[in-house]
Amino acid sequence: MKAIIIGSGLGGLSTALRLAHKGFEVEIIEKHHSPGGRLNILKKDGFTFDVGPSFFSMSYEFEELFTSCGIKNPIKLNELNPLYAVYFEHRQKPFLIYKDLDKLQKEFENIEDHLISKVENYLKSAGRLFHDTENLIIRRNFISKTDYLLALIKVPLRHSPKLFRNMWSELERNFQSEELKIIFSLVAFFLGSTPFQTPAVYQLLNYTELKHDGYWNVKGGMYRIVENLLELLNQKNVSIKLNTEITGIEYSGKRIVSVTDQDGKKYHADIFISNSDAAAFRGQILKRTKFNTQKLDKMEWTLAPFTIYLGVKGLCDNLHHHNYFLGNNFRQYADTIFKSSVSPQKPYYYVNASSKSNPQCAPEGCENLFILCPVPDLRFKTDWSDTNALADNIITDLSSRINFDLHKNTISKTIMNPVDWQNTFNLYRGSGLGLAHGLNQVGALRPSNKDEQFKNLFYVGASTLPGTGLPMVVISSKLVTERILNDFAQALA
Ligand SMILES: Cc1cc2nc3c(=O)[nH]c(=O)nc-3n(C[C@H](O)[C@H](O)[C@H](O)COP(=O)(O)OP(=O)(O)OC[C@H]3O[C@@H](n4cnc5c(N)ncnc54)[C@H](O)[C@@H]3O)c2cc1C
Repeated sequence: MKAIIIGSGLGGLSTALRLAHKGFEVEIIEKHHSPGGRLNILKKDGFTFDVGPSFFSMSYEFEELFTSCGIKNPIKLNELNPLYAVYFEHRQKPFLIYKDLDKLQKEFENIEDHLISKVENYLKSAGRLFHDTENLIIRRNFISKTDYLLALIKVPLRHSPKLFRNMWSELERNFQSEELKIIFSLVAFFLGSTPFQTPAVYQLLNYTELKHDGYWNVKGGMYRIVENLLELLNQKNVSIKLNTEITGIEYSGKRIVSVTDQDGKKYHADIFISNSDAAAFRGQILKRTKFNTQKLDKMEWTLAPFTIYLGVKGLCDNLHHHNYFLGNNFRQYADTIFKSSVSPQKPYYYVNASSKSNPQCAPEGCENLFILCPVPDLRFKTDWSDTNALADNIITDLSSRINFDLHKNTISKTIMNPVDWQNTFNLYRGSGLGLAHGLNQVGALRPSNKDEQFKNLFYVGASTLPGTGLPMVVISSKLVTERILNDFAQALA
Protein backbone atom coordinates (compact mmCIF):
# COMPACT_ATOMS: atom_id res chain seq x y z
CA MET A 1 0.00 0.00 0.00
CA LYS A 2 1.48 3.37 -1.01
CA ALA A 3 1.42 6.55 1.06
CA ILE A 4 2.40 9.99 -0.17
CA ILE A 5 3.41 12.56 2.45
CA ILE A 6 3.22 16.21 1.38
CA GLY A 7 6.03 17.95 3.25
CA SER A 8 9.20 16.77 4.98
CA GLY A 9 8.92 18.64 8.28
CA LEU A 10 9.49 16.71 11.49
CA GLY A 11 5.82 15.67 11.31
CA GLY A 12 6.22 14.28 7.78
CA LEU A 13 9.52 12.51 8.46
CA SER A 14 8.32 10.89 11.71
CA THR A 15 5.12 9.71 10.06
CA ALA A 16 7.15 8.29 7.16
CA LEU A 17 9.25 6.28 9.61
CA ARG A 18 6.24 4.91 11.46
CA LEU A 19 4.38 3.99 8.25
CA ALA A 20 7.44 2.43 6.60
CA HIS A 21 7.92 0.36 9.77
CA LYS A 22 4.34 -0.88 9.39
CA GLY A 23 4.98 -1.98 5.80
CA PHE A 24 3.77 0.99 3.74
CA GLU A 25 5.64 2.10 0.64
CA VAL A 26 6.26 5.80 1.38
CA GLU A 27 7.15 8.74 -0.84
CA ILE A 28 7.67 12.27 0.49
CA ILE A 29 7.18 15.33 -1.69
CA GLU A 30 8.80 18.54 -0.45
CA LYS A 31 8.59 22.11 -1.72
CA HIS A 32 11.93 23.29 -0.30
CA HIS A 33 15.39 22.29 -1.50
CA SER A 34 16.27 20.56 1.78
CA PRO A 35 14.18 18.33 4.06
CA GLY A 36 13.25 19.18 7.67
CA GLY A 37 10.76 22.05 7.30
CA ARG A 38 11.24 24.62 10.03
CA LEU A 39 13.77 22.25 11.64
CA ASN A 40 16.30 23.14 8.95
CA ILE A 41 19.95 24.02 8.56
CA LEU A 42 21.81 26.99 7.08
CA LYS A 43 25.49 26.60 6.20
CA LYS A 44 27.23 29.84 5.24
CA ASP A 45 30.69 31.44 5.43
CA GLY A 46 32.06 28.59 7.56
CA PHE A 47 29.16 28.77 10.06
CA THR A 48 26.30 26.32 10.60
CA PHE A 49 22.99 27.62 11.95
CA ASP A 50 19.82 25.91 13.10
CA VAL A 51 17.17 27.74 11.05
CA GLY A 52 14.27 27.35 13.50
CA PRO A 53 13.99 25.26 16.68
CA SER A 54 16.90 25.37 19.11
CA PHE A 55 15.63 23.38 22.12
CA PHE A 56 12.70 21.25 23.25
CA SER A 57 11.07 19.61 26.21
CA MET A 58 9.40 16.16 26.57
CA SER A 59 12.47 14.52 24.99
CA TYR A 60 10.98 11.09 25.74
CA GLU A 61 8.65 11.52 22.75
CA PHE A 62 11.67 11.00 20.46
CA GLU A 63 12.50 7.85 22.44
CA GLU A 64 8.94 6.63 21.86
CA LEU A 65 9.20 7.34 18.11
CA PHE A 66 12.29 5.22 17.63
CA THR A 67 11.48 2.39 20.02
CA SER A 68 7.99 2.01 18.53
CA CYS A 69 9.75 1.40 15.20
CA GLY A 70 12.15 -1.13 16.76
CA ILE A 71 15.13 1.24 16.44
CA LYS A 72 17.61 2.43 19.06
CA ASN A 73 17.25 6.19 19.49
CA PRO A 74 20.22 7.63 17.51
CA ILE A 75 19.79 11.23 18.75
CA LYS A 76 22.31 12.35 21.36
CA LEU A 77 21.07 15.12 23.62
CA ASN A 78 22.58 17.92 25.70
CA GLU A 79 20.55 18.92 28.74
CA LEU A 80 20.38 22.69 29.18
CA ASN A 81 21.68 23.80 32.53
CA PRO A 82 20.89 26.59 33.21
CA LEU A 83 17.71 26.28 31.16
CA TYR A 84 18.10 29.86 29.91
CA ALA A 85 19.23 33.34 30.87
CA VAL A 86 16.87 36.31 31.03
CA TYR A 87 18.19 39.86 30.63
CA PHE A 88 16.02 42.77 31.76
CA GLU A 89 16.83 46.24 30.55
CA HIS A 90 17.05 47.73 34.03
CA ARG A 91 19.44 45.09 35.32
CA GLN A 92 23.04 44.49 34.25
CA LYS A 93 23.17 40.85 35.36
CA PRO A 94 20.86 38.23 33.77
CA PHE A 95 18.70 35.87 35.81
CA LEU A 96 19.87 32.31 35.23
CA ILE A 97 16.94 29.92 35.34
CA TYR A 98 17.75 26.55 36.88
CA LYS A 99 15.70 23.45 37.58
CA ASP A 100 17.73 23.17 40.78
CA LEU A 101 15.68 25.30 43.18
CA ASP A 102 18.60 26.04 45.52
CA LYS A 103 20.40 27.65 42.61
CA LEU A 104 17.24 29.39 41.42
CA GLN A 105 16.71 30.81 44.89
CA LYS A 106 20.19 32.39 44.83
CA GLU A 107 19.30 34.16 41.57
CA PHE A 108 16.28 35.76 43.24
CA GLU A 109 17.88 36.56 46.61
CA ASN A 110 16.27 39.71 48.07
CA ILE A 111 13.82 39.68 45.15
CA GLU A 112 11.44 36.81 45.93
CA ASP A 113 11.12 35.54 49.53
CA HIS A 114 10.61 31.84 50.23
CA LEU A 115 11.16 31.06 46.57
CA ILE A 116 11.70 27.32 47.02
CA SER A 117 8.42 26.61 48.80
CA LYS A 118 6.49 28.91 46.46
CA VAL A 119 7.92 27.33 43.28
CA GLU A 120 7.41 23.82 44.70
CA ASN A 121 3.83 24.61 45.48
CA TYR A 122 3.20 26.16 42.04
CA LEU A 123 4.83 23.26 40.19
CA LYS A 124 3.00 20.67 42.27
CA SER A 125 -0.31 21.97 41.05
CA ALA A 126 1.01 22.40 37.46
CA GLY A 127 2.39 18.84 37.58
CA ARG A 128 -0.94 17.36 38.70
CA LEU A 129 -2.58 19.12 35.76
CA PHE A 130 0.04 17.82 33.32
CA HIS A 131 -0.29 14.20 34.46
CA ASP A 132 -4.09 14.41 34.62
CA THR A 133 -4.26 15.55 30.99
CA GLU A 134 -1.21 14.11 29.21
CA ASN A 135 -2.79 10.81 28.18
CA LEU A 136 -6.42 11.90 28.49
CA ILE A 137 -6.18 14.95 26.20
CA ILE A 138 -2.72 15.52 24.70
CA ARG A 139 -1.61 12.08 23.50
CA ARG A 140 -4.84 10.86 21.96
CA ASN A 141 -7.18 11.15 18.97
CA PHE A 142 -10.76 12.37 19.16
CA ILE A 143 -13.26 10.92 16.75
CA SER A 144 -15.82 13.66 17.43
CA LYS A 145 -16.52 16.74 19.54
CA THR A 146 -18.60 14.56 21.86
CA ASP A 147 -15.65 12.23 22.31
CA TYR A 148 -13.55 15.30 23.24
CA LEU A 149 -16.20 16.56 25.65
CA LEU A 150 -16.34 13.15 27.33
CA ALA A 151 -12.57 13.27 27.80
CA LEU A 152 -12.73 16.81 29.20
CA ILE A 153 -15.26 15.88 31.85
CA LYS A 154 -12.92 13.18 33.09
CA VAL A 155 -10.29 15.84 33.96
CA PRO A 156 -10.49 16.26 37.76
CA LEU A 157 -12.69 19.20 38.73
CA ARG A 158 -10.01 20.77 40.92
CA HIS A 159 -8.36 22.11 37.72
CA SER A 160 -11.44 23.87 36.35
CA PRO A 161 -10.89 27.32 38.01
CA LYS A 162 -7.74 27.53 35.89
CA LEU A 163 -9.89 27.55 32.78
CA PHE A 164 -11.44 30.81 33.93
CA ARG A 165 -8.41 32.80 35.03
CA ASN A 166 -5.40 33.72 32.96
CA MET A 167 -1.83 32.64 33.39
CA TRP A 168 -0.75 36.03 34.70
CA SER A 169 -3.30 36.00 37.52
CA GLU A 170 -2.25 32.43 38.40
CA LEU A 171 1.34 33.69 38.67
CA GLU A 172 0.18 36.68 40.74
CA ARG A 173 -1.47 34.29 43.20
CA ASN A 174 1.86 32.51 43.66
CA PHE A 175 4.67 35.04 43.34
CA GLN A 176 5.49 38.65 44.22
CA SER A 177 8.37 39.71 42.05
CA GLU A 178 7.52 41.14 38.66
CA GLU A 179 10.64 39.60 37.13
CA LEU A 180 9.82 36.05 38.24
CA LYS A 181 6.23 36.37 37.03
CA ILE A 182 7.42 37.65 33.65
CA ILE A 183 9.98 34.86 33.28
CA PHE A 184 7.50 32.08 34.12
CA SER A 185 4.95 33.64 31.78
CA LEU A 186 7.18 33.57 28.68
CA VAL A 187 5.87 30.09 27.75
CA ALA A 188 2.52 31.70 26.86
CA PHE A 189 4.14 33.24 23.78
CA PHE A 190 5.12 29.73 22.56
CA LEU A 191 1.40 28.97 22.42
CA GLY A 192 0.64 32.01 20.34
CA SER A 193 -0.78 34.31 22.95
CA THR A 194 0.16 36.47 25.93
CA PRO A 195 0.01 35.48 29.61
CA PHE A 196 -2.83 38.00 29.99
CA GLN A 197 -5.00 36.00 27.57
CA THR A 198 -3.70 32.44 27.97
CA PRO A 199 -5.75 30.30 30.39
CA ALA A 200 -3.90 29.31 33.55
CA VAL A 201 -4.09 25.62 32.57
CA TYR A 202 -1.02 26.21 30.43
CA GLN A 203 1.07 26.57 33.58
CA LEU A 204 1.68 22.87 32.84
CA LEU A 205 4.40 24.10 30.47
CA ASN A 206 6.25 25.53 33.49
CA TYR A 207 6.13 22.06 34.97
CA THR A 208 7.59 20.49 31.81
CA GLU A 209 10.44 23.02 31.68
CA LEU A 210 11.27 23.41 35.38
CA LYS A 211 10.59 20.00 36.83
CA HIS A 212 9.48 17.20 34.55
CA ASP A 213 11.89 16.94 31.64
CA GLY A 214 13.69 20.30 31.37
CA TYR A 215 15.06 21.53 28.06
CA TRP A 216 17.36 19.75 25.64
CA ASN A 217 19.19 20.35 22.45
CA VAL A 218 21.06 18.01 20.19
CA LYS A 219 24.77 17.21 20.14
CA GLY A 220 26.07 18.33 16.74
CA GLY A 221 23.15 20.75 16.19
CA MET A 222 19.39 20.37 15.92
CA TYR A 223 19.58 19.26 12.28
CA ARG A 224 21.09 15.95 13.45
CA ILE A 225 17.46 14.96 14.19
CA VAL A 226 16.62 15.31 10.49
CA GLU A 227 19.88 13.69 9.34
CA ASN A 228 19.27 10.69 11.62
CA LEU A 229 15.72 10.33 10.35
CA LEU A 230 16.87 10.59 6.71
CA GLU A 231 19.42 7.80 7.23
CA LEU A 232 16.73 5.53 8.69
CA LEU A 233 14.21 6.40 5.97
CA ASN A 234 16.80 5.68 3.32
CA GLN A 235 17.35 2.21 4.83
CA LYS A 236 13.60 1.68 4.56
CA ASN A 237 13.54 2.80 0.89
CA VAL A 238 11.47 5.90 1.56
CA SER A 239 12.06 8.34 -1.30
CA ILE A 240 12.03 12.14 -1.00
CA LYS A 241 11.38 14.40 -3.97
CA LEU A 242 12.61 17.94 -3.25
CA ASN A 243 11.83 21.29 -4.94
CA THR A 244 8.32 20.05 -5.69
CA GLU A 245 5.23 21.86 -4.44
CA ILE A 246 1.83 20.19 -4.39
CA THR A 247 -0.69 22.65 -5.76
CA GLY A 248 -3.78 20.56 -6.45
CA ILE A 249 -5.58 17.24 -6.09
CA GLU A 250 -7.66 14.90 -8.25
CA TYR A 251 -10.39 12.88 -6.62
CA SER A 252 -13.08 10.38 -7.37
CA GLY A 253 -16.01 10.22 -4.96
CA LYS A 254 -14.65 10.24 -1.41
CA ARG A 255 -11.08 9.31 -2.33
CA ILE A 256 -8.12 11.33 -3.53
CA VAL A 257 -6.63 9.66 -6.59
CA SER A 258 -3.55 11.81 -7.06
CA VAL A 259 -1.91 15.08 -6.06
CA THR A 260 -0.47 17.47 -8.65
CA ASP A 261 2.70 19.56 -8.49
CA GLN A 262 3.45 23.05 -9.81
CA ASP A 263 4.31 21.61 -13.26
CA GLY A 264 1.11 19.57 -13.49
CA LYS A 265 2.83 16.24 -12.75
CA LYS A 266 0.54 13.78 -10.92
CA TYR A 267 1.51 11.50 -8.03
CA HIS A 268 -0.73 8.50 -7.32
CA ALA A 269 -1.06 6.67 -4.01
CA ASP A 270 -3.57 4.83 -1.81
CA ILE A 271 -3.36 7.32 1.03
CA PHE A 272 -2.14 10.91 1.33
CA ILE A 273 -0.88 12.76 4.41
CA SER A 274 -0.50 16.53 4.40
CA ASN A 275 2.34 17.90 6.53
CA SER A 276 1.53 21.28 4.99
CA ASP A 277 -0.44 23.42 7.45
CA ALA A 278 -3.66 21.51 8.29
CA ALA A 279 -5.88 24.61 8.15
CA ALA A 280 -4.29 26.40 5.19
CA PHE A 281 -4.11 23.17 3.09
CA ARG A 282 -7.86 22.72 3.46
CA GLY A 283 -8.41 26.29 2.29
CA GLN A 284 -5.73 26.81 -0.36
CA ILE A 285 -5.45 23.34 -1.93
CA LEU A 286 -8.84 21.73 -1.20
CA LYS A 287 -10.68 25.08 -1.60
CA ARG A 288 -12.95 24.43 1.39
CA THR A 289 -15.20 27.39 2.20
CA LYS A 290 -14.78 26.78 5.94
CA PHE A 291 -11.08 27.52 5.50
CA ASN A 292 -11.18 30.29 2.86
CA THR A 293 -8.84 33.25 3.33
CA GLN A 294 -11.43 35.24 5.26
CA LYS A 295 -12.03 32.36 7.70
CA LEU A 296 -8.33 31.54 8.00
CA ASP A 297 -7.61 35.18 8.82
CA LYS A 298 -10.19 35.10 11.60
CA MET A 299 -8.48 32.16 13.28
CA GLU A 300 -5.84 32.77 15.95
CA TRP A 301 -2.26 32.33 14.74
CA THR A 302 1.04 32.40 16.58
CA LEU A 303 3.46 35.30 16.09
CA ALA A 304 5.69 35.44 13.02
CA PRO A 305 9.45 35.01 13.34
CA PHE A 306 11.96 37.67 12.37
CA THR A 307 15.26 35.80 12.46
CA ILE A 308 18.89 36.85 12.09
CA TYR A 309 21.75 34.38 11.62
CA LEU A 310 24.97 36.10 12.63
CA GLY A 311 28.47 34.67 12.33
CA VAL A 312 30.79 36.75 14.50
CA LYS A 313 34.52 36.96 15.08
CA GLY A 314 35.40 36.65 18.78
CA LEU A 315 33.62 35.04 21.72
CA CYS A 316 30.61 36.68 23.31
CA ASP A 317 31.48 35.85 26.92
CA ASN A 318 28.42 37.63 28.32
CA LEU A 319 26.03 35.36 26.43
CA HIS A 320 24.78 31.98 27.58
CA HIS A 321 23.53 29.23 25.29
CA HIS A 322 19.87 30.40 25.47
CA ASN A 323 19.08 34.02 26.24
CA TYR A 324 15.99 36.22 26.38
CA PHE A 325 16.38 40.00 26.15
CA LEU A 326 13.39 41.90 27.53
CA GLY A 327 12.57 45.56 27.99
CA ASN A 328 10.81 47.40 30.80
CA ASN A 329 7.29 47.59 29.41
CA PHE A 330 6.21 43.93 29.42
CA ARG A 331 2.46 44.45 29.78
CA GLN A 332 2.28 47.13 27.09
CA TYR A 333 4.57 45.13 24.78
CA ALA A 334 2.48 41.97 25.20
CA ASP A 335 -0.72 43.92 24.55
CA THR A 336 0.48 45.47 21.29
CA ILE A 337 2.93 43.03 19.71
CA PHE A 338 0.36 40.69 18.11
CA LYS A 339 -1.56 43.26 16.11
CA SER A 340 0.87 46.09 15.49
CA SER A 341 1.42 47.27 11.93
CA VAL A 342 4.90 48.64 12.63
CA SER A 343 8.14 47.01 13.79
CA PRO A 344 8.79 47.28 17.54
CA GLN A 345 11.01 50.26 18.41
CA LYS A 346 12.49 48.48 21.41
CA PRO A 347 12.23 44.81 20.42
CA TYR A 348 12.15 41.84 22.79
CA TYR A 349 14.12 38.93 21.38
CA TYR A 350 15.74 35.55 21.98
CA VAL A 351 19.38 34.67 21.22
CA ASN A 352 20.83 31.20 20.85
CA ALA A 353 24.59 30.71 20.69
CA SER A 354 24.75 27.04 19.78
CA SER A 355 28.52 27.18 19.21
CA LYS A 356 28.82 27.35 23.01
CA SER A 357 28.00 23.63 23.20
CA ASN A 358 28.61 22.66 19.55
CA PRO A 359 31.98 24.27 18.69
CA GLN A 360 31.99 22.67 15.21
CA CYS A 361 29.16 25.08 14.23
CA ALA A 362 31.55 28.05 14.03
CA PRO A 363 35.20 28.55 12.99
CA GLU A 364 37.67 28.61 15.90
CA GLY A 365 37.37 31.76 18.00
CA CYS A 366 33.98 32.63 16.48
CA GLU A 367 30.33 32.31 17.51
CA ASN A 368 27.16 31.54 15.54
CA LEU A 369 24.28 33.62 16.87
CA PHE A 370 20.65 32.89 16.07
CA ILE A 371 18.42 35.83 16.95
CA LEU A 372 14.65 35.43 16.98
CA CYS A 373 12.36 38.42 17.41
CA PRO A 374 8.64 37.49 17.42
CA VAL A 375 6.71 40.01 15.32
CA PRO A 376 3.12 40.45 14.07
CA ASP A 377 2.12 38.12 11.25
CA LEU A 378 1.40 39.29 7.71
CA ARG A 379 -2.26 40.03 8.43
CA PHE A 380 -1.17 42.98 10.52
CA LYS A 381 2.21 44.06 9.15
CA THR A 382 2.48 43.50 5.41
CA ASP A 383 5.34 45.85 4.56
CA TRP A 384 8.77 44.50 5.48
CA SER A 385 10.85 47.10 3.63
CA ASP A 386 12.26 47.99 7.08
CA THR A 387 13.88 44.53 7.42
CA ASN A 388 17.48 45.82 7.53
CA ALA A 389 16.57 48.65 9.89
CA LEU A 390 14.91 46.27 12.37
CA ALA A 391 17.87 43.87 12.18
CA ASP A 392 20.30 46.76 12.82
CA ASN A 393 18.17 47.96 15.73
CA ILE A 394 18.29 44.49 17.34
CA ILE A 395 22.02 44.02 16.71
CA THR A 396 22.80 47.46 18.19
CA ASP A 397 20.69 46.70 21.28
CA LEU A 398 22.28 43.27 21.74
CA SER A 399 25.80 44.71 21.31
CA SER A 400 25.26 47.19 24.11
CA ARG A 401 23.64 44.66 26.40
CA ILE A 402 26.44 42.09 26.09
CA ASN A 403 29.18 44.70 25.73
CA PHE A 404 30.42 43.27 22.42
CA ASP A 405 30.44 45.19 19.13
CA LEU A 406 28.53 42.80 16.88
CA HIS A 407 28.34 45.24 13.95
CA LYS A 408 32.14 45.48 13.80
CA ASN A 409 32.73 41.75 14.21
CA THR A 410 30.11 40.35 11.85
CA ILE A 411 31.52 37.92 9.28
CA SER A 412 28.22 36.46 8.07
CA LYS A 413 24.67 37.81 8.20
CA THR A 414 21.40 36.32 6.91
CA ILE A 415 17.94 37.66 7.74
CA MET A 416 14.56 35.95 7.34
CA ASN A 417 11.48 38.14 7.76
CA PRO A 418 7.87 36.84 7.92
CA VAL A 419 7.54 37.00 4.12
CA ASP A 420 10.59 34.73 3.76
CA TRP A 421 9.14 32.31 6.33
CA GLN A 422 5.82 32.28 4.54
CA ASN A 423 7.37 31.68 1.12
CA THR A 424 9.99 29.15 2.17
CA PHE A 425 7.79 26.71 4.10
CA ASN A 426 4.24 27.78 3.20
CA LEU A 427 3.62 29.14 6.71
CA TYR A 428 0.23 30.84 6.70
CA ARG A 429 0.74 34.64 6.86
CA GLY A 430 4.26 33.85 8.09
CA SER A 431 2.99 32.57 11.45
CA GLY A 432 5.96 30.77 13.02
CA LEU A 433 4.33 28.08 15.13
CA GLY A 434 1.06 27.66 13.19
CA LEU A 435 -2.39 27.86 14.75
CA ALA A 436 -2.48 29.22 18.28
CA HIS A 437 -3.69 27.17 21.28
CA GLY A 438 -6.61 29.09 22.74
CA LEU A 439 -9.25 26.76 24.20
CA ASN A 440 -11.27 27.18 20.98
CA GLN A 441 -8.41 25.77 18.88
CA VAL A 442 -7.29 22.67 20.79
CA GLY A 443 -8.42 19.03 21.00
CA ALA A 444 -11.36 18.28 18.71
CA LEU A 445 -11.67 22.03 18.02
CA ARG A 446 -8.32 22.05 16.17
CA PRO A 447 -8.34 21.01 12.48
CA SER A 448 -8.62 17.22 12.62
CA ASN A 449 -5.84 14.86 11.51
CA LYS A 450 -8.42 12.95 9.42
CA ASP A 451 -10.08 14.74 6.55
CA GLU A 452 -13.80 15.49 6.80
CA GLN A 453 -14.53 14.51 3.18
CA PHE A 454 -11.82 12.28 1.75
CA LYS A 455 -11.40 8.89 3.40
CA ASN A 456 -7.76 8.54 2.36
CA LEU A 457 -6.49 12.02 3.36
CA PHE A 458 -4.84 12.70 6.72
CA TYR A 459 -2.86 15.52 8.36
CA VAL A 460 0.21 15.71 10.57
CA GLY A 461 2.09 18.64 12.09
CA ALA A 462 1.85 21.80 14.14
CA SER A 463 -1.65 22.98 13.15
CA THR A 464 -3.44 19.67 13.74
CA LEU A 465 -3.54 17.54 16.92
CA PRO A 466 -2.14 17.97 19.49
CA GLY A 467 -0.26 21.22 18.72
CA THR A 468 2.99 22.95 17.93
CA GLY A 469 6.60 22.38 18.99
CA LEU A 470 8.88 19.43 18.25
CA PRO A 471 7.59 16.91 20.83
CA MET A 472 3.97 17.75 19.95
CA VAL A 473 4.67 17.18 16.29
CA VAL A 474 6.23 13.79 17.07
CA ILE A 475 3.05 12.95 19.03
CA SER A 476 1.08 14.17 16.01
CA SER A 477 2.84 11.56 13.86
CA LYS A 478 1.87 8.87 16.37
CA LEU A 479 -1.77 9.99 16.39
CA VAL A 480 -2.09 10.14 12.60
CA THR A 481 -0.42 6.74 12.22
CA GLU A 482 -2.97 5.29 14.66
CA ARG A 483 -5.77 6.79 12.54
CA ILE A 484 -4.35 5.39 9.31
CA LEU A 485 -3.78 1.93 10.77
CA ASN A 486 -7.25 1.94 12.21
CA ASP A 487 -8.74 2.65 8.76
CA PHE A 488 -6.33 0.70 6.54
CA ALA A 489 -4.89 -2.17 8.59
CA GLN A 490 -7.07 -4.71 6.81
CA ALA A 491 -5.89 -3.57 3.40
CA LEU A 492 -2.28 -3.95 4.57
CA ALA A 493 -2.73 -7.49 5.93
C1 LIG B 1 11.89 30.43 14.29
C2 LIG B 1 11.26 29.22 14.95
C3 LIG B 1 11.79 28.75 16.13
C4 LIG B 1 11.20 27.63 16.74
N1 LIG B 1 11.77 27.16 17.89
C5 LIG B 1 11.29 26.04 18.45
C6 LIG B 1 11.96 25.47 19.56
O1 LIG B 1 12.98 25.99 20.02
N2 LIG B 1 11.44 24.32 20.07
C7 LIG B 1 10.34 23.70 19.55
O2 LIG B 1 9.94 22.64 20.06
N3 LIG B 1 9.70 24.22 18.48
C8 LIG B 1 10.15 25.36 17.91
N4 LIG B 1 9.54 25.87 16.81
C9 LIG B 1 8.33 25.19 16.29
C10 LIG B 1 8.70 23.98 15.44
O3 LIG B 1 9.66 24.35 14.49
C11 LIG B 1 7.47 23.46 14.71
O4 LIG B 1 6.39 23.24 15.61
C12 LIG B 1 7.75 22.15 13.98
O5 LIG B 1 9.03 22.13 13.39
C13 LIG B 1 6.67 21.98 12.93
O6 LIG B 1 6.90 20.81 12.19
P1 LIG B 1 5.85 20.38 11.08
O7 LIG B 1 6.26 19.04 10.61
O8 LIG B 1 4.48 20.53 11.58
O9 LIG B 1 5.92 21.48 9.92
P2 LIG B 1 7.10 22.13 9.05
O10 LIG B 1 8.39 22.07 9.74
O11 LIG B 1 6.60 23.46 8.66
O12 LIG B 1 7.16 21.19 7.77
C14 LIG B 1 6.21 21.24 6.74
C15 LIG B 1 6.93 21.00 5.42
O13 LIG B 1 5.96 20.92 4.38
C16 LIG B 1 6.47 21.61 3.25
N5 LIG B 1 5.30 22.01 2.46
C17 LIG B 1 4.32 22.87 2.82
N6 LIG B 1 3.39 22.95 1.85
C18 LIG B 1 3.79 22.12 0.86
C19 LIG B 1 3.25 21.76 -0.40
N7 LIG B 1 2.10 22.28 -0.84
N8 LIG B 1 3.93 20.88 -1.19
C20 LIG B 1 5.09 20.33 -0.75
N9 LIG B 1 5.65 20.64 0.43
C21 LIG B 1 5.01 21.51 1.23
C22 LIG B 1 7.23 22.79 3.83
O14 LIG B 1 8.16 23.32 2.90
C23 LIG B 1 7.89 22.12 5.05
O15 LIG B 1 9.14 21.58 4.72
C24 LIG B 1 10.08 26.97 16.16
C25 LIG B 1 9.56 27.47 14.96
C26 LIG B 1 10.14 28.57 14.35
C27 LIG B 1 9.58 29.07 13.05
